[in-house]
Amino acid sequence: MKPLLVILIIALCSITLAFPQNTKDSDDGKIRVIVIGAHPDDCDLKSGGTAALFAEMGHAVKFVAVTNGDAGHQTEGGGALARRRRAEAQESRRRLGIDEYVTLDNHDAELVPSLEVRHQIIRLIRNWNADIVLSPRPNDYHPDHRYTGELVQDAAYLVIVPNVTPDTPPLKKNPIFLYLSDGFQRPNPFRPDIAVAIDKTFDKKMNGLDAHVSQFYEWLPWTSGGLAEVPKGTAERKEWLKAKWGGRSSISPEVRKSLEKWYGAQKAKDIKYAEAFEICEYGKQPSDEEIRRLFPMLK
Ligand SMILES: [Zn+2]
Repeated sequence: MKPLLVILIIALCSITLAFPQNTKDSDDGKIRVIVIGAHPDDCDLKSGGTAALFAEMGHAVKFVAVTNGDAGHQTEGGGALARRRRAEAQESRRRLGIDEYVTLDNHDAELVPSLEVRHQIIRLIRNWNADIVLSPRPNDYHPDHRYTGELVQDAAYLVIVPNVTPDTPPLKKNPIFLYLSDGFQRPNPFRPDIAVAIDKTFDKKMNGLDAHVSQFYEWLPWTSGGLAEVPKGTAERKEWLKAKWGGRSSISPEVRKSLEKWYGAQKAKDIKYAEAFEICEYGKQPSDEEIRRLFPMLK
């Protein structure tokens, strides 16, 4: 090797070491999406169809469950349940075709918006070099959902501040932060700024939910007193799941309006299933053009 080349390589390495940056750069053309939910099934339920669309288009998607789900069952719990749910999340990841599904080890139903968890969230968003961050709104029936919303809001902006969580290099730009949909009306109802048609990936989304056996076929039916209704056969229960939970992706008049904006009235008429997102005021405020660039399925 020529001495000049060796010097050049050493110089380049020193620059890289002196200024550590996130290596997963958006320069590869991939849009980098991170969805942060409270439990191992929240991301799937609120954004599984959109996530699968991003993945099909070659973009990078990561799901995060901030708690390990170790309280979400009527007869199981603790470490054994956390392990079961982590495995279910991995199976869902495989079925949706997304890159990563991480389950943090915070206890289910005990999440608080602590500094420690804020650091965890900041590190995750920075290491993913996120362009888009999705999370629940901070008004919700479940404290873990509320605090996850608050924790992600707390991280918005701080992800670019070098003196905050200094063990992880800051982002060079603030991502856009979006809220996942919900039906809560107070203090203000969810506003569907962006609506994505998921007809193409609806079956994939349902397959993802089907992977969370402990939840959709055991825990959630038990909480609503409907455990006896759950069919025993694999194919039968998948049909039941579609009938019971598929409706969550059906379209309200507000979401229909948003679909008309993004797809045009003609195309929007035929859309059967959608997922909607609200722009959080604390991250980057995107123009419509920017939204179309970050959500290429809207083109
Ligand atoms: Zn949840």
